Amino acid sequence: MEIIIASHNQHKVEEIRSIIGADRLILRSLNDVGYHDEIVEDGATLQANAWIKANAIHGLYGGNVMSDDTGLEVDALDGAPGVISARFAGPQRDHEDNMDKLLSMLSQHDNRKAQFRTIVALHWQRQRHEFEGIIRGKISFSRSGSGGFGYDPIFVPDGYDKSFGELSPHTKNRISHRALAFDQVKKFILSQL
Ligand code: IMP
Repeated sequence: MEIIIASHNQHKVEEIRSIIGADRLILRSLNDVGYHDEIVEDGATLQANAWIKANAIHGLYGGNVMSDDTGLEVDALDGAPGVISARFAGPQRDHEDNMDKLLSMLSQHDNRKAQFRTIVALHWQRQRHEFEGIIRGKISFSRSGSGGFGYDPIFVPDGYDKSFGELSPHTKNRISHRALAFDQVKKFILSQL
C-alpha cells in the first residue's frame, strides 16, 4: 500500500515516516512523485488548507494522499494567528518576527492561554477522513530554549514548566499537536492494512 505526503518539507515527511513506520505502507514525498510546484495555501481555515493540498495532489496522482496544516491559536486574540501562523508578521515567514509580534500584541492581555492545532486531511481508498490534534498551553512573557522551531520558545504546554524550545525533541514529539493527530492517523491506517 502506498500513500503520498502532500508536503515539500522533507523534515515533515521523515517525522511522519517515523511516527507511522509501518512496514506494509510506502510513504512517498512530493519529490518522490516528481511534483515540484508550490501549492497555494489560500484557505481561510486550517481545514481548508489541509484539503487544498490533499485534493490538489489527489487530483493529479489519485490514490492515497495525506496532508496536514497547523496553527497556533491564542485565546485572547480570538484564535489568531491560526491559519496565518507561518506569515503572521509578514511574507518573509520569519519565526523571530512572528514571536516578537505575538509577544507585543499579548502585552495588553492577562489571558495567555493558547493551543497548537493540527488538522490532517486524508484521502484513503476513495474516501476522505479528517483528524485533529490539539495541545493546550500558555504563551510565556519571553523566549526560553533553543530547540524546535516556530513559536516553540514561547509556548509552554499545560502540565510543564518548560517551553517546547526547552523540552527534549523526544518529549515534544510524544505530546505535541502533530503527534496527537498522527497517532490517530496511524491507528486508522494500521486498522486498514
Ligand atoms: P505547518 O502547517 O506545519 O507548516 O505550520 C504552520 C506554522 O505554524 C509554522 O510555520 C509555525 O510558525 C507554526 N508551527 C507549526 N507547528 C509548530 C510547532 O510544533 N512548534 C512551533 N510552531 C509551530
